[in-house]
Amino acid sequence: MILCECGKFIEGAIFKDYIKTSLNPSTGTIGHSNCGLIFNFVDGKRQKRYSSRKELKVLAAKFAQNNLPVENTAQFLLEVERFKSQGKLQDIEILINAYHEVLQRML
Ligand SMILES: [Zn+2]
Repeated sequence: MILCECGKFIEGAIFKDYIKTSLNPSTGTIGHSNCGLIFNFVDGKRQKRYSSRKELKVLAAKFAQNNLPVENTAQFLLEVERFKSQGKLQDIEILINAYHEVLQRML
């Protein structure tokens, strides 16, 4: 599962493209149909897996906007903070863990 910088999972919503990378002037890759972001897996220009606190906050806010009702956003951001404080989790793990925490509380 890949989380795009726009805060949505790109599952299914992809298009194929060719970009110039350090490996090849025409490397096959994918982009996100919803926002048009094209990933460069070769040179690692896709989202950082371990963002700084500040970067993660921006990503989390976008994620909440796309995946959660407004009234749960604050709770979600708190959970993200909490998981980030544990240190060694990747962005995607933090977002998914926090998302599940919030969903559980909504039930
Ligand atoms: Zn996107």
